[in-house]
Amino acid sequence: MKYDVVIIGGGITGTAIAHRLARYQLKTILLEAGTDVAVRATKQNGAVCHPGYDPHPGTLKAKINPPGARMYPRLAKELGFKIKNTGTLVVAYSDRDLKKVDELMDNARINGVEQVERLNQEQLRNREPHISKDALGALLAHSTNMVDAFEVAIAFMENAMENGTEIGLNQQVRHIEKRGEQDFVIYTQDNVYETRFIINAAGIHADDVAAMAGIHEFKMQGRHGNLCVLDKVLPIHTVMFPCPGPDTKGIALIPTVSGNFIIGSTATMRDDKYDATNDALGVDELIEGAKKLLPDFDPRCIIRTFAGQRPVCLNNDNDFYIRESESCKGFIHAAGIQSPGIGAAPGVAEYVRDVLADAGCDLKEKPDYNPYRQPIPDFSDMSFEEKDELIRRDPAWGKIVCRCETVPEGEIIAAIRQPLGARTVEGVKRRTRAGMGRCQSGFCQFRVMHILAKELGIPEEEVRFEERDAQVLYGKLKGLR
Ligand SMILES: Cc1cc2nc3c(=O)[nH]c(=O)nc-3n(C[C@H](O)[C@H](O)[C@H](O)COP(=O)(O)OP(=O)(O)OC[C@H]3O[C@@H](n4cnc5c(N)ncnc54)[C@H](O)[C@@H]3O)c2cc1C
Repeated sequence: MKYDVVIIGGGITGTAIAHRLARYQLKTILLEAGTDVAVRATKQNGAVCHPGYDPHPGTLKAKINPPGARMYPRLAKELGFKIKNTGTLVVAYSDRDLKKVDELMDNARINGVEQVERLNQEQLRNREPHISKDALGALLAHSTNMVDAFEVAIAFMENAMENGTEIGLNQQVRHIEKRGEQDFVIYTQDNVYETRFIINAAGIHADDVAAMAGIHEFKMQGRHGNLCVLDKVLPIHTVMFPCPGPDTKGIALIPTVSGNFIIGSTATMRDDKYDATNDALGVDELIEGAKKLLPDFDPRCIIRTFAGQRPVCLNNDNDFYIRESESCKGFIHAAGIQSPGIGAAPGVAEYVRDVLADAGCDLKEKPDYNPYRQPIPDFSDMSFEEKDELIRRDPAWGKIVCRCETVPEGEIIAAIRQPLGARTVEGVKRRTRAGMGRCQSGFCQFRVMHILAKELGIPEEEVRFEERDAQVLYGKLKGLR
């Protein structure tokens, strides 16, 4: 199979690039090792679409993040993903913090981020009455949006697919050969792909993928973070951060697009790239951080904990690493995309498009490019009349499978039948929220598995939780059917 461009990695970076390149007359495929897109850092984050006041002026982050974040409201309309404007507060507790707030205000001005203001104690309390009395003031960035990063990645990829981009799931790239001056040959466990250009968006494994082509320009390491998901109960409206440290933005309280809240995130460097386990000390640190912002915070509202690793490019001053390899022409890195990787994603894609053009890729627009995507209907968000109409047309929309999040069978079937349809229990969860509620899938998981098996025409024992080897059912117990 011969391509113009192969993108390696289906996180928000790879899918944003696939979406951006889908408007050109290129034969493109995205190869992803997992069973779905958004299975690593892109599903393990706080989902704050940072507007760009944080990165140091002069860095690639500062150049790419603000324009990327500004594209989100338009993209949400075109691609049908959820977005919520919450704004961000960066809260100061001391004179030193107040100086940091001034510094961030300067960053915002230099980075071109508008709608940023400084609040005094009274203004802060008027906006968020439950905030700690120790808070002296804050930076308020009005333009911060919340998204679900995995929903955005799915939307990017589905639109790219509808415009002709291919996807290879379960395709872990294992070996890369450079053939002559121009072409690469990529080997996965069961396929071979030839291509003129490679875009390396493999997250924390970007250095391993580069090494397959003999490139040793940078090293990746994970900055591990714990997060907690809370029930829909906190009395806050704005994302709240403390003042940032050198490597982390600190522990924040985050209202999500779906009405839940998140406490995120701790930050410790880890050697094991696959370690996405939670640790108790990390969760204690999160609870302490939440109480500092909101003294009445009650940890009993935590319904789940999870963790992930930010893909950090070492020896690159904490910056994004996006460029064509000097030693291997045609090989383009989109690496080191740690926070603000979500807010920046559309900007990263735009930047990679330019790097690709400079590398000699001919970018001719497609005359019939369609920027729009039809999302699956969100039943829980509909009026009674809309629900009634849908149920009358198809009774499966009247059978509620996930009671916590009000997800009917019809919505799950629609998620399986989308262009990039759900194939696993977790895939259904990311597309419909079935299993994301207070009971954390205690009641609905087996019903979801049943629907998946029926729709995919496979026995229930073959339905996977997420990974290819994550079997849930092994067979029937004696005497039970
Ligand atoms: C705890 C935590 C909190 C965060 N909070 C925020 C936040 O609030 N706001 C924000 O902007 N950012 C946040 N981030 C950062 C954000 O999640 C990342 O910047 C972003 O998800 C990186 O996306 P990516 O596509 O580059 O990497 P990933 O999502 O990791 O995707 C890389 C993909 O490459 C695939 N891959 C790897 N090797 C191969 C191979 N050999 N062959 C094929 N495929 C391969 C992987 O399976 C994976 O799907 C947070 C991150 C963490 C961990």
